[in-house]
Amino acid sequence: MKPSHIEHIGIAVKSLDEAIPFYEDVLGLHCYSIEEVKEQKVRTAFFKVGDTKIELLEPTDPDSPVAGFIEKRGEGLHHIAFAVDHVLAALSGAEENGVRLIDREPRNGAEGLKIGFLHPKSTFGVLMEFCGGKV
Ligand code: ZN
Repeated sequence: MKPSHIEHIGIAVKSLDEAIPFYEDVLGLHCYSIEEVKEQKVRTAFFKVGDTKIELLEPTDPDSPVAGFIEKRGEGLHHIAFAVDHVLAALSGAEENGVRLIDREPRNGAEGLKIGFLHPKSTFGVLMEFCGGKV
C-alpha cells in the first residue's frame, strides 16, 4: 500500500459562505463543487490545487463530528486524505500494522469516493483518511 498522492486536505469551517470567498478571491482558486454528505452531516466545498483538492467541511447539524471538532479545537486543519487504489485493503493493512481505525469498512464520501479514517491517536495526532474509487 503506497498512496499515489494527497487526494485532499480537509479543513473545518463554520460557514462555507464565509470561507469560500477567501479561497476564490485571495487564493484565486475556483470552487467547482458544493455537496452535502448526509452520512457525515457536513456540506463540502471543493477546490483543485494541482492533483490535490482542498475540501472545506461545514457541519449541518450540532451532532456532526465536524461540529464537535470545531467546538473543541476551533476552525482549521481537520484531516489529510491519501489517494489509494483500494480503501479496504489500505485500512486492513494499517490495522495489521497495529494502527487503530475509525472505519474498519469503507464508507461513502463526497464525489462518489470510498473513504475510511485512521484514528489520530495512532497517527501522531493527525486525522488521516484513505480515499479511492474502489472499496
Ligand atoms: Zn476527506
